[in-house]
Amino acid sequence: MDDTLMPWAAAGRMPKIAIIGSGLSGLAAVVHLRKAGYDDVTVYEKAAAVGGTWRDNRYPGLSCDIASYWYSFTFAPNPRWSHRYPLGEEIRAYLEKVTDDFDIRRCIRFETPVERLVSTGQRWRLVTRHGEDTYDIVISAAGILHHPKLPEIPGLRDFRGRVFHSSRWEDDAPVDGARVGVIGTGSTAAQIVGALGARCARLSCFQRTPQWMFPLLQKRYSGWWKWLMARVPGLPRLMYHAHRLALERTLGPATMGNTLMQRLFEWTCRWNLQRTVKDPDLRRKLTPDYRAGCKRLVICSTFYEAIVRDNVELVTDAIERLEPEGVRTRDRRLHALDTLVLCTGFHSNRFILPVDVIGSEGQRLADVWGEAPRAHRAMSVPGFPNLWFLEGPGGPVGNISLVSVSEIQIRYIVQVLDAMRRRGLAAVSPRRLSFERYNADLAQAVRRTIWATGGCRSWYIDASGDPNLYAHPPARFYRDMRRPDLAEYELTPAQASTERSHFRDQAQERVE
Ligand code: NAP
Repeated sequence: MDDTLMPWAAAGRMPKIAIIGSGLSGLAAVVHLRKAGYDDVTVYEKAAAVGGTWRDNRYPGLSCDIASYWYSFTFAPNPRWSHRYPLGEEIRAYLEKVTDDFDIRRCIRFETPVERLVSTGQRWRLVTRHGEDTYDIVISAAGILHHPKLPEIPGLRDFRGRVFHSSRWEDDAPVDGARVGVIGTGSTAAQIVGALGARCARLSCFQRTPQWMFPLLQKRYSGWWKWLMARVPGLPRLMYHAHRLALERTLGPATMGNTLMQRLFEWTCRWNLQRTVKDPDLRRKLTPDYRAGCKRLVICSTFYEAIVRDNVELVTDAIERLEPEGVRTRDRRLHALDTLVLCTGFHSNRFILPVDVIGSEGQRLADVWGEAPRAHRAMSVPGFPNLWFLEGPGGPVGNISLVSVSEIQIRYIVQVLDAMRRRGLAAVSPRRLSFERYNADLAQAVRRTIWATGGCRSWYIDASGDPNLYAHPPARFYRDMRRPDLAEYELTPAQASTERSHFRDQAQERVE
């Protein structure tokens, strides 16, 4: 039998691996896989550049509220970060540099969106508009927040000015000295309003729900500091852990139900509001009626500073419709605008979709997931062998740097590959019982978190009615991810699977 047709672990060759997406998790995956000797890697990227969310988002004021040193790969510490919280542009440049430094570009197929993935039981047939190829392992690094959610506002098409989603920023849209509207008050809107307040002639921020805003302790690093970081071995690493522990030991417990921490966050947000917004009426409009941390905490110091400006208005009357001239609110007022930015968030339950993923029994992932996707340990789904997710459903979001989550998950996947190699396995997929137990535990735990009990609606909550997040403290996440327990997985030996895969290939053809 041709070696390339045999399961890789039986043929004594390395697996052929496809990664979908060249955002930060896709890049981390390539480096960790190569480091472990898994060299035959191809990355499929729908766009023309790396960077994922940091490539797509280019709005004014873009930065990350996770500290720079912690928002760095462990294999590429960066002593040159200019600020304590990295600027969007700098993260983009960092990811480009990592791509070049680790020679990743050569294995990326740009502008090649994956359209279809079909399991043969032990391998994946991967289809793009340019053709198809077969892979032993597929890793989805497609990200979470990448499908813009457009609001269902009547008349959206009637507006004569420029209108676009925050993640599709149009550089030539009128902003300086213009009349600009921003819909939303989430993390994105807060940064945009903060950046545009001083630039626009008039800025109208349309708020549906007030947000708790925690001050961002931004700081520009001095040349001396950067020199020190570059010269003292281990210092960026020390800072990595200092920032990690600072957030994990505060926001972590606050979201997990620790009332003392929770009050501390709420108190700091109130203090932040009171010290910046002196008008009691405006302050009342900006005060949420749910618990801090229920929605993703907005960490931003520029929003309140902008909202108190004379040329900036917080509009709390509901939007009725868009008209050619601007936004008409329910109080019959017309807010005339040149540009309208929709900071209305993302469809957060898509992950690898809309790729048409067909499992080993002909089932579609889109049907299996419906509107409430779940995964075993956030990384795999029963019936979809050898398919892994980074930043998949039920992963930790909000309390942990997603850069470190990606690295932790890819290390776990590498250990599974090592086990496949050692034991001559053709396929690994989670047992249904393990998957159900794991997700039942998460569902129970998540109902005790502030995301479920805090009295708000947020993008964390999906069609199941529960927040779709990792619901235990970060320390437990690290423990959960340290070493795979193969008893949780169905392991298909290479020999047996050769027969079965042949059968499955035929069954697959019938399905198609
Ligand atoms: P978001 O948090 O989902 O916020 C969407 C905003 O739009 C909310 O204020 C929402 O109001 C409002 N909205 C939606 N539809 C509306 C409608 N039809 N009419 C009026 N208002 C409407 O989205 P986001 O701000 O883009 O942030 C998404 C996530 O991206 C964040 O939670 C965060 O995880 C991530 N992010 C992170 C950073 C960072 O620095 N790390 C920066 C930006 C974004 P309601 O509250 O009433 O629904």
